[in-house]
Amino acid sequence: MPELPEVETVRRGLQPVLEGARIERVETRRPNLRYPFPERFGERLAGHRITSLGRRAKYLIADVEDAPLLICHLGMSGSFRIETDEDGTTPGAFHHERSKSEKHDHVVFHVATAKGEPARVVFNDPRRFGFMLFAERNGAEHPMLSGLGVEPTGNALDGELLAGLFRDKKTPLKAALLDQRLIAGLGNIYVCEALWRAGLSPTRAAGTVAVVGKVARERAALLATSIREVIADAIAAGGSSLRDYVHTDGSLGYFQHSFSVYDREGAPCAHSGCAGHVERIVQSGRSTFYCRQCQR
Ligand SMILES: [Zn+2]
Repeated sequence: MPELPEVETVRRGLQPVLEGARIERVETRRPNLRYPFPERFGERLAGHRITSLGRRAKYLIADVEDAPLLICHLGMSGSFRIETDEDGTTPGAFHHERSKSEKHDHVVFHVATAKGEPARVVFNDPRRFGFMLFAERNGAEHPMLSGLGVEPTGNALDGELLAGLFRDKKTPLKAALLDQRLIAGLGNIYVCEALWRAGLSPTRAAGTVAVVGKVARERAALLATSIREVIADAIAAGGSSLRDYVHTDGSLGYFQHSFSVYDREGAPCAHSGCAGHVERIVQSGRSTFYCRQCQR
């Protein structure tokens, strides 16, 4: 499943083509993805200009002039491909290989870029857990977005805020970090990585980083910094994949983002001076990878 850094990489890959572009026509090749397309989906977008392409948690949000906001989610296996007359690129494919099979091309946005050049932005999704919805501009925030917690990317996420979110929580720290109502867009991979970086056990009660006192404050600050850093590093890695892709083969250079603990069961811990090994345990039905020696 694409995680936040991957979605951000997709956004950055699409931005040069879509921002300022005029949507000429939208082709939907089936009536639904995870949800049915909104009524008159293509009609309401056609002829309008995309003023900006943003992201909230794992949602891409296109601001389209004189049209509803377009909310896109990649689901489990969604990807976008940019086709111009010269080439095709797939921004953001960096942990799981993306499908290139045309039978899974479900939506095609035919656009004229800000420079007036024709391009096609193709949404491919073999498992069809992705979706595209409209959010009307008047009234309340879209229900998908309204309950989301703080972004794990910005300076807003600091020790103080984290301590406030986790105060008195008895749930395991890992579960609290995955709670989208507290922090939005943080997934299994980066929670494991951030906890390892911070030297905190995924099984300790979340409230223990929030108790009043110097040690808890330091833990919370270190955890907040670790979260921001693992996300920033992954976004930077995704960004370099965008820069490095080779135009001629039609796809974004696929590279394996390297993780310190995620999916590395049995590997020696990479913290210098630690003799531990990465273990896998199951928490709430999902794998947790961590080092028992240095994560306390
Ligand atoms: Zn260790």
